Amino acid sequence: MAIPPGVNEQDFQTALGEFVNAVGSDWVFTRDEDTRLYRDAYSPVQNEPEEILVSAAVAPENVEEVQAVVRTANRYRIPIYPISTGRNLGYGGSAPNLSGSVVLDLKRMNRVIEVDDKRHFAIVEPGVSYFDLYRYILDRNLKVLIDCPDPGWGSVVGNALDHGVGYTWGAYRDHFISHCGMEVVLPNGELMRTGMGALPGADTWGEYRYGFGPHVDGLFSQGNFGVVTKMGFHLLPEPEAYLKGTVSVPARRDIIDLVAIVNQLEHAGLIGMPRYNTPLSAHYSEPEVAGILAQPFARSAQELERWAQSNDIGYYRCELQFYGPRETVQANWSYAQRLLSEIPGAKFHVDHELEWPITAEEVEGWHKVALGIPNLEIFRMGTRPDADTLGWDGEMWFAPIIPKSGEAVLEAQEVFTEAFREMGMRSFTSPASTPATWMYRAFIFIMGFPVSRIDVEANQRQREAFTRLANLGAERGWGEYRTPPIFQDLIMGHYSFNDHALRRFSETLKDAVDPNGIISAGRGGIWPKHLRDSNA
Ligand SMILES: Cc1cc2nc3c(=O)[nH]c(=O)nc-3n(C[C@H](O)[C@H](O)[C@H](O)COP(=O)(O)OP(=O)(O)OC[C@H]3O[C@@H](n4cnc5c(N)ncnc54)[C@H](O)[C@@H]3O)c2cc1C
Repeated sequence: MAIPPGVNEQDFQTALGEFVNAVGSDWVFTRDEDTRLYRDAYSPVQNEPEEILVSAAVAPENVEEVQAVVRTANRYRIPIYPISTGRNLGYGGSAPNLSGSVVLDLKRMNRVIEVDDKRHFAIVEPGVSYFDLYRYILDRNLKVLIDCPDPGWGSVVGNALDHGVGYTWGAYRDHFISHCGMEVVLPNGELMRTGMGALPGADTWGEYRYGFGPHVDGLFSQGNFGVVTKMGFHLLPEPEAYLKGTVSVPARRDIIDLVAIVNQLEHAGLIGMPRYNTPLSAHYSEPEVAGILAQPFARSAQELERWAQSNDIGYYRCELQFYGPRETVQANWSYAQRLLSEIPGAKFHVDHELEWPITAEEVEGWHKVALGIPNLEIFRMGTRPDADTLGWDGEMWFAPIIPKSGEAVLEAQEVFTEAFREMGMRSFTSPASTPATWMYRAFIFIMGFPVSRIDVEANQRQREAFTRLANLGAERGWGEYRTPPIFQDLIMGHYSFNDHALRRFSETLKDAVDPNGIISAGRGGIWPKHLRDSNA
């Protein structure tokens, strides 16, 4: 069994004994076969000296037990790392930033405290997964829709705390934005509530997020200032109808007008999440198209457009999702077509129409997450035979935020595709790449870098490429929104305005709120004082 850094064996044993007193011996894990479960299954440093391994894990059942564990950790300066369901695959899994940390696993705290389908909110504990919340709503026939990420097994709280995202309406699919009030165990074991939860007797925790005074909730997302034990979330009222319509446009630069019009529709509240893609990607492995893509960027972009037009294949497509009353869904779709018809050659198609209550048969084959139905179908992505590793066992997400404009998309296509060419790597981007739209008000130019459990050298190559692209993006003002622990110092380093004033401010708070540096050391690039120099 590993010992947390800077902790002597005797103190660690005493602390483990206190953890057992607090939660019971069944819920303190120290054996290798148990602690190994907290390795990051998608770690890009698997089986390398940098791989982060935990010393133990503790799984409390309620908030009093969390407080007891935190007080003990604070007394003996044991680094602890809270997770909710710990399924943060692609961004670190359940592994901490600091090897030897004790994982504080909150999966047993899985109570849905309240769901209100007249005022449209939920209050949940960290162990509540999207599946749990969905089932709770279904069992009670409540008329609210949840917004889930692609994998439904994650935690509503944990996902939001890492700025996770989903697929429906703007204000709901940014899960931290949709949160409303939280309960937190502070590093000294004290219990705090934010927003209206701070007002004894208030019945508005799930409705008004600010309460009064500074809005401190953000400190607990991608931060290390406390253990969140409850969170409220706004929920979308169950709509009457859904329509998914598609527009396709013929030219590469059409993305400029396409994005401007779709932004207009979305920011005016007329559509849910739009999804851009390119029909051309289905042809990338055909020899002629592969030959076009192998050319230098400008030429490749020109020839790809010519090929698309001569084969009457749209260059981009955008799926528009309408939720709401039957009448407005149809009217908004007509309005969208009117605006988008300004783009020469735009073509329209209705893909899918539904009305609630929806049946399992009606959604089979469609993207259920967009309809608020959690599932795990995304993992069909699985291992890919064409990955340039000996086996693709997972991915690390490269996720730079770029402006929500067609001009930025064109620039990102070129910058990243040329970078892959210079590195001599198979490119994950092309002159027709499109951004992800999970963020309500920005694009993410996301790519999954493959990671392997067996090929250390391939992982090293992928890390080098990831670092190079992250630096390249940052030079243009494109920063990662979320990243695996191994890159968190690098990424925080990019947010460097005024000699890293933002990081220095967080460090000042960290030293005041958590002087022993016990909570999630290093998370978000924020290290406690005693570890700062060694990680500088
Ligand atoms: C194929 C694939 C598709 C994916 N699709 C999506 C997607 O659509 N949207 C999306 O957002 N993500 C996606 N992910 C990433 C990830 O799987 C999900 O975000 C997942 O929900 C995160 O894991 P979790 O919910 O178990 O959170 P956790 O792992 O429990 O939490 C995440 C982090 O938040 C902090 N934290 C958690 N709980 C607490 C707490 N109670 N107190 C203090 N800090 C805490 C910890 O630092 C923790 O590591 C995808 C991953 C893969 C591999």
